[in-house]
Amino acid sequence: MEADVRRILRKLNIRPSKSLGQNFLTDGWVLQRITEAAELTPNDTVLEIGPGIGNLTSYLAEDAGCVVAVEIDKRLAQVLHDLLIGYRNVHIINADILRLDLKKELAPFMTSPDGTPRSLKVVANLPYYITTPVIMKLLENGLDAECMVIMVQKEVAARMMAKPGGKDYGALSVSVGYYSRPTVIMDVPPDCFIPQPGVDSTVVRLDLYKTPPVELKDRDLFFKVVKAAFGQRRKTLLNALNNAGYIGADKEQIRMLLERVGIDEMQRGETLSIQQFAQLANELHDLLKQ
Ligand code: SAM
Repeated sequence: MEADVRRILRKLNIRPSKSLGQNFLTDGWVLQRITEAAELTPNDTVLEIGPGIGNLTSYLAEDAGCVVAVEIDKRLAQVLHDLLIGYRNVHIINADILRLDLKKELAPFMTSPDGTPRSLKVVANLPYYITTPVIMKLLENGLDAECMVIMVQKEVAARMMAKPGGKDYGALSVSVGYYSRPTVIMDVPPDCFIPQPGVDSTVVRLDLYKTPPVELKDRDLFFKVVKAAFGQRRKTLLNALNNAGYIGADKEQIRMLLERVGIDEMQRGETLSIQQFAQLANELHDLLKQ
């Protein structure tokens, strides 16, 4: 397979772009495992981010009802039509995933020819330079996806999976935990790609919650509190929340809120569970409404 990828790139005269995070998977077994992890059926529409030369896309197209593949690189978007010529259920969109109105673009592909609604799954070997913004966009956009199977840098996977108290636990862990149940599928070493990335990779599956694990009175306020708590992670929670300056309460009010929800003001934000962040944000919401 490695030889195939090299041959295709040579034939098309394409030099992988480092700035676009172009590291192409060359290991058929890894491609197979990613596809299996998504548990695709003909009733699924897959959103693939960054199809590249279509090596993962062809696996997805075999099992899913339809694949919508968004590729920023014009050179690749053009040749993908030829590379995937046998797959009539693949739709290529030449665009930046971060700028796309995903709900609008996906709408025409969310029903099968007989009118049955399809489920949405996201599968991607992500370009690492935009991993976090892409994940946040997918989680926050209310796409109603069932699951996401994504390859990310190993360190990012650790942050996504982290529990309170550790060095990896941060705003990304809280966001991922609020929207989904994450599972590690497999680690992937650099020699499974051309060119080889300078980091190890991990495939993660996120099962999106229909109902989040905590009830929030104001979701934006919850994420503001989380951002403030991790903005200055070496500071105490009281100081970090106060210094952020955008949560709308003064130091005395924050002290009172922390006491009310039973959190020691000297604790650091990195020790709080999602449930505690939710409690704090809900109390703050009530206070600001008064
Ligand atoms: N899917 C292929 C594979 O697994 O071998 C390629 C994956 S490669 C890591 C990432 C792909 O994302 C590249 O094809 C790159 O051009 C594309 N890409 C980079 N930035 C993008 C963006 N903002 N929107 C859409 N695609 C992007």
